[in-house]
Amino acid sequence: MKPLTLNFRNKAAETMGDKQVQQSLEHVYTGFFKGRLEAAGDTPEWEELRDKGKAIKDHTIAHLDYYLGMLADNVEKNGGSVYFAENADEARQHIIDLAHARNIKTIIKSKSMVSEEMALAESLNDEGFETVETDLGEYIIQLAGETPYHLIAPAVHKSRLEVAELLDDNYKSGDRVPDATELTMMAREKLRGVFARADMSVTGVNFAVAESGSIALVTNEGNGRMSTTVPRVHVAVMGMEKIVPSIQDLSTMLRILIRSATGQRISTYVTMVNGARASDEEEGPEEFHLVIMNNGRQNLLADPQLRESLNCIRCGACLNACPVYRKVGGHAYGWVYPGPIGSIVTPVMTGLKDAHNLPAASSLCGACLDACPVKINIPRMLLELRHRTAEGSADTAERTSSKAERGIWKLWRAGMMGRKRFDLGARLSWLLLRPMAKNGWLKKTPPPISRWTSTRDFPIMASSSLRSKLSKRTKKAKS
Ligand code: SF4
Repeated sequence: MKPLTLNFRNKAAETMGDKQVQQSLEHVYTGFFKGRLEAAGDTPEWEELRDKGKAIKDHTIAHLDYYLGMLADNVEKNGGSVYFAENADEARQHIIDLAHARNIKTIIKSKSMVSEEMALAESLNDEGFETVETDLGEYIIQLAGETPYHLIAPAVHKSRLEVAELLDDNYKSGDRVPDATELTMMAREKLRGVFARADMSVTGVNFAVAESGSIALVTNEGNGRMSTTVPRVHVAVMGMEKIVPSIQDLSTMLRILIRSATGQRISTYVTMVNGARASDEEEGPEEFHLVIMNNGRQNLLADPQLRESLNCIRCGACLNACPVYRKVGGHAYGWVYPGPIGSIVTPVMTGLKDAHNLPAASSLCGACLDACPVKINIPRMLLELRHRTAEGSADTAERTSSKAERGIWKLWRAGMMGRKRFDLGARLSWLLLRPMAKNGWLKKTPPPISRWTSTRDFPIMASSSLRSKLSKRTKKAKS
């Protein structure tokens, strides 16, 4: 479970230099961010709803084993089957085995970040199944051979021209660029036939309801509804935290999810699935399977400092609010989950050593906390992860700071512990750095602190402190 690329710095720099992607990323702010603010402003009980949402998630995560048991029992009572997968490999293999055993030919997928954790579409294609994404954004990404850029808008970085080139094999440079409606119709035409011949679907789960054994899917394109009704086998995949106790809780969570994700009051489709088609029903799949995946979530559950991240309902609001995400884009984060919440989830699920740059990729401005509908304190957890990379136990492979870096900070700390030490340290640092400075500023510093000056100038300490200057001036005035 390694990040796709560990090169946050290079990927971020690449995105920041790409004018087209920067232009596309503006929509994250003008569309989603502003839409959420308006939707929240139009909802007088918004803060109350956020508190309720947080309380529901806190309670559910604190009693996760109980609610997972209840969910599994009720899905089975409804005629479905439940599979608990320890990791992505197990989940993927289970789905592949299901498909082989049922002689499946074509599989349609609707949007699911958990299936991205398993790289499911690629694996199913490699196994010989025709596997097609049906969410428009995911379909575009699949055609481009990329990974999603955003939790709810996977292809937000693509221009209309790029989408036209992907959707239309005959599109030539210089042709008129179709508008969004025309592009959607092109995708729709291609996907209709796939829906008709699909014999299995794999969907995500926005929420699973423990008391009824049902799952809820939120979409705007209707592909979720088609995927859960047309093929004869429906497999739903979820992370083990995507659960709410009751239908009443579901209604609260839907209100905050949809407003926070797209700024809508309600999405075009909210699909409830209560298992396979009953004998007296006319539509729906013959089989329903629910795959519940751990894949590192237990590490989060066992970690009191980071457990709160399991409250995430994947609305994407923290991405839209984050000034760093809006510049570096989704692929810089290297794995399935980008943005502020990804900077917490990815290091824990893939290893802090590999993803140590992510918690540092934040200005700690707190915009993510303000935006989060379930009030997850992302900045606090980012600081916790930074603390672990700097001072965590060397045995846990968390610590990534070098000996030199730790030595510098120890010296700095010692110097800050008393007035006399501070004055002495400041004087020594001035003497040491002055030969390298120009007009009091360092433009370059030697390793291991050379990165400090790679993007900014650094002022050296003054030759004497303000206090000693003032004291000299006062003495002079008195004499
Ligand atoms: S952390 Fe909060 S704002 Fe970010 S995706 Fe999760 S629920 Fe949404």
